[in-house]
Amino acid sequence: MSGFSELKLIAPILNAVHAQGYETPTPIQQKAIPIVLSRTDLLGCAQTGTGKTAAFALPILQLLSEKGQGAAPNRPRAIRCLILTPTRELASQIGESFAAYGRDLPIRGTVIFGGVGQRPQENALRNGIDVVVATPGRLLDLMQQRLVNLNALEIFVLDEADRMLDMGFIHDVRRIIAALPKKRQTLFFSATMPPEISRLAEQILTRPTRIEVAPPATTVELIDQALYQVNSNQKTSLLIHLLRDAGISRSLVFTRTKRDANRVAESLSDFGIASEAIHGNKSQSARERALANIKSGRTRVLVATDIAARGIDIDSVTHVFNYDIPNVPESYVHRIGRTARAGQVGSAVAFCAPEERGFLADIERVIRKRVPVLKTPLGLGIESRGNSGGGGRRPRGNSGRRFGGGRGRPQGASRQA
Ligand code: AMP
Repeated sequence: MSGFSELKLIAPILNAVHAQGYETPTPIQQKAIPIVLSRTDLLGCAQTGTGKTAAFALPILQLLSEKGQGAAPNRPRAIRCLILTPTRELASQIGESFAAYGRDLPIRGTVIFGGVGQRPQENALRNGIDVVVATPGRLLDLMQQRLVNLNALEIFVLDEADRMLDMGFIHDVRRIIAALPKKRQTLFFSATMPPEISRLAEQILTRPTRIEVAPPATTVELIDQALYQVNSNQKTSLLIHLLRDAGISRSLVFTRTKRDANRVAESLSDFGIASEAIHGNKSQSARERALANIKSGRTRVLVATDIAARGIDIDSVTHVFNYDIPNVPESYVHRIGRTARAGQVGSAVAFCAPEERGFLADIERVIRKRVPVLKTPLGLGIESRGNSGGGGRRPRGNSGRRFGGGRGRPQGASRQA
């Protein structure tokens, strides 16, 4: 396939891309790669799942290797590219992507985030690094200890700017930016553009080229959405019932609180459904283990809070369950965006308690559609809202097919446990 080679990428990068199994550039890659290669600033309106990481990582690697300063004997390597991203998971994934795409290039990178010991990160920095992928808090710590020198920075990437704002990192981000050289190339990515984020973009970008791909509503169209109306105390039973379908091979369950995440994961495990919880109170190693287990198929279900799950990239998630309805509509879009990634199809199933209907209405306004209501099995649930979905449907195992869309088979009571 010639898609990537038309983007004037050099052979070592093309080989690495093909080794990843990518054949055709995604829309954001087609748009962003030439812009980044032309050393222009970029304002990208895009979310994870669109191929955003490669859209900036590939051309950055190429720019760095074109003007490689190498490790001259008397001159230590200086940090030439900084990528700021909101979560540790996202930082690790971006670091892994850089390592994979740059495997045949003499470019060194490291990942910096909090919640783990500082010493290995210090050592990596001391040994000379070209590319740093970091979360804001730990990077600022290291900067204040004068362990990071960004004076030679050429390229700065701000990833998921709107998440930085949501998570309260925007002040740290501003302080970091204030310490960067003014003359640099800046790439700015955000899924949404609330006013504070547009202002920041205006302040830090110089004559940027603006690109926009797959706004949330478009991504949402690839996902079969449905919901059950249940009381809060029935949600766990409903989840266990639905997960009996072995075709739900890899799923994410979102809860609002860490406590709920633990409780749900424990209940599922009690019923023999291999699951784990991931949230901010878990140690970094526990989070990494949980991610590795779901990726390898050792567990089928990962129960997560919003922040822990932000940006996590797990291939082939067949179903996302909204155990509760998020009070911020964009969290719903982010949650369900964990399935149907990179053009695959997926299903998103929400459990809506009566007290959550206001949140649901907000979400439906943002996604500009009504989420079909499914008939709740087992005599659980409340059938008060108009049943706009195919009654009796339930999520089916996803062997490349989407559930719903009128193809759902009515669910006979005999199959209910
Ligand atoms: P991202 O938006 O960067 O989180 O990427 C989402 C997923 O798409 C990741 O699993 C990537 O490995 C994958 N991906 C990125 N670019 C391509 C491509 N051109 N073809 C197929 N998959 C891709």
